Amino acid sequence: MKLQNLLKTALDIIFPPQCVSCIKKLEAAETILCKSCLGSIILNSSLYCPICNRRLYLAKTVCHTEAKCILGAASSYEIKAVRDLVHALKYNHVKVTALLIAEIIKKYLMPLIANSTNQSIGQIKYFTVLPIPLHPQRERERGFNQAVLIAESLKNTIAPIIHVTTSKALIRNKNVPSQISFSSYKERKENVSNVFEVTTYEEIIGKNILLIDDVATSNATINEAARVLKEAGAKKIIALVFAKA
Ligand SMILES: [Zn+2]
Ligand SMILES: [Zn+2]
Repeated sequence: MKLQNLLKTALDIIFPPQCVSCIKKLEAAETILCKSCLGSIILNSSLYCPICNRRLYLAKTVCHTEAKCILGAASSYEIKAVRDLVHALKYNHVKVTALLIAEIIKKYLMPLIANSTNQSIGQIKYFTVLPIPLHPQRERERGFNQAVLIAESLKNTIAPIIHVTTSKALIRNKNVPSQISFSSYKERKENVSNVFEVTTYEEIIGKNILLIDDVATSNATINEAARVLKEAGAKKIIALVFAKA
């Protein structure tokens, strides 16, 4: 046994791994969440309008024509296990949590892609997976960008099924206060106005983008990033989040 594995086994005996949601001791086959908490995560089955959050039915296009993207959200932030997973992603067990979140997003995404009558997403064969960037200073302080971790895990998870590449061609050029500091959509929209920039246009022009973030609350950040990507020549943009509020 490698020293690293030996250490992990020793640590597991001293501190048995617990479910991040209900704190129950995990079984050998469980990671991060126990079976029952994982089962409490109800998956959504549709895409949404990023302006009014209305569900988009199959073969329908987005209701607000000014929308620059379509919103995909695997689950709801109302669910306790979802909130606990998002929390774990930011504060502990970072990489394994990102992997579990990517698995859940995949379960939501695959039926939508497989359904060829779904005009919004069903006929797309090639995707560029692109995380919502953090400002470099914020990323340094935190040590990682959770959207990047989800995007990387998701790419590896769906790559055997659909053709995907990853890109970091979108950057954040302004360090603004967190969206949590603002409550209205208008304030949040103003806060993220012109914070994004495309660096490598070849990676965006004519591409179908899967724009990844962990949570969408007001959709202001997503809509602004989509606006910039669209202006840079992106084809179809699906903003894909683990949970929406
Ligand atoms: Zn649990
Ligand atoms: Zn709408």
